Amino acid sequence: MKDIFDKYLPLERRRRELFGETRDLPFALTVERLLSPTRALVGGREILLFGTNNYLGLTFDPAAIEAGIRALREWGTGTTGSRIANGTYVLHRQLEQAFARFLDRGTAIVFTTGYQANLATISGLAGPRDVILVDADSHASIYDGCRLSGATVIRFRHNDPEDLDRRLSRLGEVEGSVLVVVEGLYSMLGDVAPLPELCAVVRRHGAWLLVDEAHSFGVYGARGRGLAEAQGVEREVHFVAGTFSKSLGAVGGFAASDHPRFELLRIAARPYMFTASPSPATMASVLAILERIGREPELRSRLWDNARRLHAGLAELGFTLGAPVSPVVAVVLPDERTAVRAWQRLLAEGVYVNLALPPGTPGRRSLLRASVSAAHEPEEIETALATFARIGRELDLVAPRP
Ligand code: PMP
Repeated sequence: MKDIFDKYLPLERRRRELFGETRDLPFALTVERLLSPTRALVGGREILLFGTNNYLGLTFDPAAIEAGIRALREWGTGTTGSRIANGTYVLHRQLEQAFARFLDRGTAIVFTTGYQANLATISGLAGPRDVILVDADSHASIYDGCRLSGATVIRFRHNDPEDLDRRLSRLGEVEGSVLVVVEGLYSMLGDVAPLPELCAVVRRHGAWLLVDEAHSFGVYGARGRGLAEAQGVEREVHFVAGTFSKSLGAVGGFAASDHPRFELLRIAARPYMFTASPSPATMASVLAILERIGREPELRSRLWDNARRLHAGLAELGFTLGAPVSPVVAVVLPDERTAVRAWQRLLAEGVYVNLALPPGTPGRRSLLRASVSAAHEPEEIETALATFARIGRELDLVAPRP
């Protein structure tokens, strides 16, 4: 009998070529202990974390931890099922109302992960008679949501409103509706969507717009509502989706809209209906964190100060960066092997960043992706920069010290 894993032989070969038999694989890294949102013990050594997406650094927020503990005591360890089977807890309602208020939207729904928020929202909004136009650099959860919907899916060039316009013009008569899906801040290169231009195209064609603010929620906008708020187009975005797993420091997802029938997703979207709802501890923690984000805009100022420092420092050293400043700072490397080598050397020197390799990267680039946190101390950023400088010179990625 043929081994059922034989289809992965090319994948295994590529892994061996790139990493050898080393245990230092990006996905095999074991964190033995977290010392803070920005420091961890790995292999008995303290390392600096620059790849967590913990943008606001709130994973150890004392009020969120206390609220989580209280919820564990009062509600137990899990919901043990979906809301259609096991019912809605007061906590679900409170959290959904808090999101609706925070985002100034008529309705918000929470999901068990951000991945499921996209699966449920996209497959709930679009069906086999509809057409989805999706930014080519979209996250896997957006693509999977498109697939689950059964709609006709068309990719348009990343961040290119003209290409979207051309493709919408070519559609002709569509039996159902047309949904356009983009992200706010793109997580690989750290570039942002040109939402006003995209909204104008969407409006002209009478389409619907969903923006996944997974990486931009809490990070952009005067109130932290995301890129649409920062770019002044919230009212033109029909549906917003996001995750608890970045600025909100937990695990889960949300979607919100002013559409009066948005609640229908609760009885139409399979990834909402057929999976256990978020845990009580998660919901209570996120309620506390949402409240803190609303009352403490300084968190965002600190994050942006740190992002500017890391971005400027890496640019000054001569690294090629993926985009203008944002809390995602991507260093573009010439090829996969160099990227793996640089990633391993940085880790050996105590700095953890994300390694991102083709085919999952924009333009098949090899990237070292750093994410900045409001919790990074200025000295931690300087240490990361000094380490990048050392490794960059060692691997001939930047010019030697003058
Ligand atoms: N959307 C985007 C743009 C993401 O980057 C991610 C995860 N990194 C998700 C959705 C899924 O979020 P979660 O990790 O909460 O499932």
